[in-house]
Amino acid sequence: MTEIGILSQGRAAVFEEPIGPAGVRVRERPRTEPVAGAVAVAIRAASINHLDLWMAHGAQRVTPPRVIAADGAGVVEASGDPSRRPGEEVVIYPVVCCWECEWCRRGENVRCVRFGVIGEHSDGTACELFHVDARNVFPRPRALSWPEAAAFPLTFLTAWRMLMTRARLQPGEKVLVVGAGGGVAVAAIRIAKHIGARVFATSRSKAKQRRALEIGAEAAFDSTDFSKPVREASGGGVDVVVESVGPATINESMRAVGPGGRVVVCGSTSGVKAEIAMPRLFWGQLDLLGSTMGNASEFAAVLEAMNAGMRPVVDEVHPLEDVQAALTRLDSGEQFGKVVVSVSTEGGTR
Ligand SMILES: [Zn+2]
Repeated sequence: MTEIGILSQGRAAVFEEPIGPAGVRVRERPRTEPVAGAVAVAIRAASINHLDLWMAHGAQRVTPPRVIAADGAGVVEASGDPSRRPGEEVVIYPVVCCWECEWCRRGENVRCVRFGVIGEHSDGTACELFHVDARNVFPRPRALSWPEAAAFPLTFLTAWRMLMTRARLQPGEKVLVVGAGGGVAVAAIRIAKHIGARVFATSRSKAKQRRALEIGAEAAFDSTDFSKPVREASGGGVDVVVESVGPATINESMRAVGPGGRVVVCGSTSGVKAEIAMPRLFWGQLDLLGSTMGNASEFAAVLEAMNAGMRPVVDEVHPLEDVQAALTRLDSGEQFGKVVVSVSTEGGTR
């Protein structure tokens, strides 16, 4: 079977030049009918991630032009697959994979040789009409608004795999989320609370520490030298640390866990090389775990949790025409939760 291409059509936010947010411009692209096995989704809202910003700044080695954004939610406009009908409200699983290899068939999409992220390894969801393999399309959780439905896919998928699959978080366990404010960190707080874990958070910003407390953290600390206060507040150390900062915090994260603790890493925003205290790793019986994105089955588990009451956090919503303002908001580092791009408000924002 030939792989189904991903196409972004109609008005679309296109990365054209690696000069930051100003290099992403709204352009018109031709519209076509979906091929067999694909669906065309009229996007209501998309959301942006740091990936889009890094790409706009030229740091992702993506050759322009490229339509940005991994996250999208909308209404099926036309379907080339019997599993989906026009009018169905859907969210998009933000992974590029072949769906046919041995790993994909076994449900391990993250190990597919074609594995990638929508909007980085293909065109993205910040467009009016998005063509994608019907297997990437899932029912929209009923209670979520369109901005909320577009806000959660990549970050909650990533945080879900980190906490539930990799770190095997259990109810009642203690989790530390380092660098609260970023999309994955906020998702990790929401997921940990949803399953009944206790949550601690760090941020360099007092305002973000307060927001972390509002969405369920029981204590929040500054992002420097946090291991001692975290060990004190948690009665000897947490069970799991969610790490995405890297060199600047990894040693503090490894000191913040108790014996046998798990440190799960999905990113490294402060640099690519870290020096770690090896004795802490083996003497502490620690698990140092890597994780990225997630499988379709993990995405389905996130949807189930959303239908059971879990909610994403939307920071700001900007219309597609103002996509540069959305990227600038992310560039400011002041956001808490997700920056959403509304594409069509036809039929209202719900
Ligand atoms: Zn595959």
